[in-house]
Amino acid sequence: MSEITPATLYVVATPIGHRGDLSPRAQAVLAGVDAICAEDTRSTGLLLAQFGLARPLIAVHEHNENEVTAALVARLQAGAALALVSDAGTPLVSDPGYRLVRAVRSAGLPVLPVPGPCAAIAALSVAGLPSDRFCFEGFLPAKASARRERLAGLQAEPRTLVFYESAHRIEAALADLIAVFGGNREAVLGRELTKRFQTLLGPSLAAIAAAVAADPNQRRGEFVLVVRGNEDHEAARLAEGRRLYARLAEHLKPSQAAQLAAELSGAPRKALYAVHQAD
Ligand code: SAM
Repeated sequence: MSEITPATLYVVATPIGHRGDLSPRAQAVLAGVDAICAEDTRSTGLLLAQFGLARPLIAVHEHNENEVTAALVARLQAGAALALVSDAGTPLVSDPGYRLVRAVRSAGLPVLPVPGPCAAIAALSVAGLPSDRFCFEGFLPAKASARRERLAGLQAEPRTLVFYESAHRIEAALADLIAVFGGNREAVLGRELTKRFQTLLGPSLAAIAAAVAADPNQRRGEFVLVVRGNEDHEAARLAEGRRLYARLAEHLKPSQAAQLAAELSGAPRKALYAVHQAD
């Protein structure tokens, strides 16, 4: 099943845990390309070995992607077929590859997807929260102040939100989410998806935080947090209006700030102004 075209970059998704999720087509492409660009050559080498595959590996990660991109484009132009993989899941999704893919496309060369696992989509597919429209937010900022500011900007978002989180920040992130969104907001935490200790916690941010606090095992591993959007449209407009008002009032007269915040958010101007007057 050799379908490898010369001078082509294949962007190949790899398992997020269960090795059986490396598709037959992914295996065929990885077996057939001239070289594999890998975020971590060691872990990709181990994955290839599990499937009896061995191809030359080229390190392409966030610290060297800029420097190696030109040489990789030249190699493709000379006729090589290359694959791009990340440590787990789909490259470019909170993973390296953006600059390389962009450069290869700018050079007029084909970039072909070999789709497969992605932790965000896996979590969304089992969360049972609205999935007709959703926002992938990736990792929240590491610093608490920046994280809360990011969350404040998402408080009124009506679409389902999908976050990646690591073990050492999951508790702090949940605490900030509760502070900004309220503990009753519906949510599902997917941990170690497709792996041995996979768990799904819910049904609210408060319930998830309590379960994580009560059991150290629930703080281990990798996490995707899926949070229901704010469907209380009136409250969402008011929250967004207040957030905008607070920012705009730093630079404008209160009446102008309230007028602009009301126009941008759809919240009643008087409700925003009243907040200011009361404060
Ligand atoms: N490109 C990957 C993808 O397609 O999902 C994501 C890479 S990002 C650097 C790694 C993050 O993805 C982890 O910190 C975690 O939030 C999430 N993740 C990856 N594998 C996971 C799994 N098996 N279960 C839950 N979350 C996972």
